[in-house]
Amino acid sequence: MKQRLSILGSTGSIGVQTLDIVAENPDLFEVTSLVAGRNWELLARQAIEFDVDSVVIGDETKYEQLKQALEPYPIKVYTGSDAICQVVQQSTVDVVVNALVGYAGLHPTVAAIEAGKKIALANKETLVVGGDLVMRMAVEKQVPILPIDSEHSAIFQCLAGEQSPIRRLIVTCSGGALRDVPMAELSSVTPERALKHPQWSMGAKITIDSATLVNKGFEVIEAHWLFGVGADKISVLIHPQSIVHSMVEFEDGAIKAQLGTPDMHMPISYALMFPHRASRPQERFDFLAHPTLTFAEPDRVKYPALDIAYDCMRRGGTAACVMNGSNEVAVAAFLAGKCRFTDITASIEYALSKARFVEHPTLKDYEALNEESRALAAEYLKLK
Ligand code: NDP
Repeated sequence: MKQRLSILGSTGSIGVQTLDIVAENPDLFEVTSLVAGRNWELLARQAIEFDVDSVVIGDETKYEQLKQALEPYPIKVYTGSDAICQVVQQSTVDVVVNALVGYAGLHPTVAAIEAGKKIALANKETLVVGGDLVMRMAVEKQVPILPIDSEHSAIFQCLAGEQSPIRRLIVTCSGGALRDVPMAELSSVTPERALKHPQWSMGAKITIDSATLVNKGFEVIEAHWLFGVGADKISVLIHPQSIVHSMVEFEDGAIKAQLGTPDMHMPISYALMFPHRASRPQERFDFLAHPTLTFAEPDRVKYPALDIAYDCMRRGGTAACVMNGSNEVAVAAFLAGKCRFTDITASIEYALSKARFVEHPTLKDYEALNEESRALAAEYLKLK
């Protein structure tokens, strides 16, 4: 039987690649619903091509245009964040692919788990903000959460079939677009420069998060929740070639790694097809074209965000939610030319020093702390 997908963030980098996998495997998947933020034109084209039942556009000002574009088709059109939570719960959905960006991903994940849907998770902010709540709910509801993030997919693949405790997870890190830029020059880096990721083509927010290493910090938190491993057993290793996607070290000293070309189609298809694998005959890794794989320690002075994330993970509660909310505001401000690159991490530090702390948060607490941290970042950056 085909798996029926609801794809959240279908117009983004991961969403479009997920639809590639669906198009390559029409016998395995069909798409029930698609969700996007603002890009109603692409959403309409995707909805027609994949013959979906319903679409949601997050931005209410785009609703009329989308509705008109889909008028000749039997496709239901909705708008707003509540509608996203409703479509993921429909009985015609088996799997929710969450490829939204930012905090906006948390509530739909929670709604999907409540309805017992399997989750293929790209939206790492879901676990950064609400990992404690989300993982507890997933266990209660016996809902699998399959990682799409390449590092976590790699770790998941390395752990398959293993029963013994692990010594540590080694999360690899390309170093982002500014890896070779001296620390003294970071404050004058332009958004265009920071968006030029050496290995991966991704959405703007994650590309900036990769340049600050906020993304790597978030991935450490994500790994902690997904695999139930403490901060002291997760390390980060700079690996500029992005061929080794991450590793697991076991107590006998053995290390398992997952390797491949940097291409998100692989982890996306693995999350959708697990425990099986896709047939992608065009995918051939050429070792001779990549004869050198190098590894180094991250520069924790140049990139304080990594240690901030470790600290948030150790504090628990709403600490990482505050890191995430303030980061979202600062990244948007940097991309809009309203602050310097180095202000991003400074905004996070400011928000963390001022925000309330809730040790055992509910969904409402996350919501409140998300708002509070966003306001604190805006205050620090003197945004109107
Ligand atoms: P993009 O910015 O490319 O896409 C984000 C998607 O979310 C778009 O479809 C966007 O719609 C939609 N969206 C944003 N806000 C809302 C909202 N409020 N309501 C409804 N839809 C919304 O991001 P990526 O695909 O790069 O990343 C998605 C997630 O996956 C992130 O959490 C990222 O960290 C993670 N990830 C991404 C990787 C990658 O290679 N790109 C790798 C590993 C993880 P629209 O464009 O129409 O406004």
